[in-house]
Amino acid sequence: MDDAARRHHHLGGVKRLIVKIGSAVIAPDGVPSPMAFAALAGQYAAIRRRGIALAVVSSGAVASGFRPLGFDRPPATMALKQAAAAVGQPLLMQSWSTALGSHGVTAAQVLFTAEDLSDRARYLNARRTMAELLDRGVLPIINENDTVSYEEIRFGDNDMLSALAADVLSADALIILSKATGLYADGDSSRVISTIASDAEDMAASHVRDERSSVGTGGMASKLAASMMSARWGIPTVVAGGHVPDVLTRVLAGEVLGTLFTPSKERMAARHRWLSGAARPKASIVVDAGAARALRERHASLLPSGVTSVEGVFDRGAVVMVRDPSGDAIAKGLTLYSSEEISRIAGRRSDQIESILGCWLSEEVIHRDDLAVL
Ligand code: GLU
Repeated sequence: MDDAARRHHHLGGVKRLIVKIGSAVIAPDGVPSPMAFAALAGQYAAIRRRGIALAVVSSGAVASGFRPLGFDRPPATMALKQAAAAVGQPLLMQSWSTALGSHGVTAAQVLFTAEDLSDRARYLNARRTMAELLDRGVLPIINENDTVSYEEIRFGDNDMLSALAADVLSADALIILSKATGLYADGDSSRVISTIASDAEDMAASHVRDERSSVGTGGMASKLAASMMSARWGIPTVVAGGHVPDVLTRVLAGEVLGTLFTPSKERMAARHRWLSGAARPKASIVVDAGAARALRERHASLLPSGVTSVEGVFDRGAVVMVRDPSGDAIAKGLTLYSSEEISRIAGRRSDQIESILGCWLSEEVIHRDDLAVL
């Protein structure tokens, strides 16, 4: 398949799209650009008229807020960045509402922390709410809830959030718009790599020469990580230049613009996407070398016989990290037993579970359907 045919194949039939916009596109140097909002809003309206449902992950809260807060560059401390986001987020939404309103499109503000999407019930609820917004023709404008996100519960950057949003909405494409016009070969901005396969992360990473914009936080490394993740989930992902005229409509029409991360052949099931992406384990199960191999190579279920120890306290149904004997993460999974139960059956055969615990739920500690190998 040549580049153009590949683009058509992956992007021609998109029905549900997530677009991520970097701060440097809409608020360069910390000044929201009405022209940039207007240009993007026009493209969204055109896309929606073609029957494509759309949600946007918009950065720019900190970038829109630091000047009104009295700074002439983005502040360095977390608390001041959060303060700037608190000032900037309503200004950002105002810009979106004005730009979209002139096309008759209603915008909705959706703010997430990483913790929100890591919690299965809240994640499922977010899915339902977002689906309602889309069904009603409203355009969700998503951002991280910066003011209440601190280190442990941050996504870190909106590139990752956009991949998770693509998962939440079961989108069939993700377009990340940035100051850079794609992933550059050897960092040379005159040579955009047009296609990267979902299993070519090392090759792609070797081309990243990271240079961040003055107002954004992510840079190309984080765009690459997010794009690889969504491509592995089976979602075609494009990184392209936000300033390129009509970039969205042209990318969707199959024009070879920016870098396309081709999706893996099979679309990953929703539960596995959540496990491998948004879920953030607070505890671990350590397994022996044999079990580690079985998980990695055969995607087998985890049986009690392979467990050597449990780290942390959790109930049945918790998300845990499964680690090999040297502590490296192998997989994330949903446990069928609690930490206390697993420590008692660790190293034992499954047919001994009932006599040890006095109850029997299943022969696995984690069923393969509930395991996402990393
Ligand atoms: N959430 C941040 C903001 O709106 C941006 C994070 C990022 O640039 O990735 O300012």
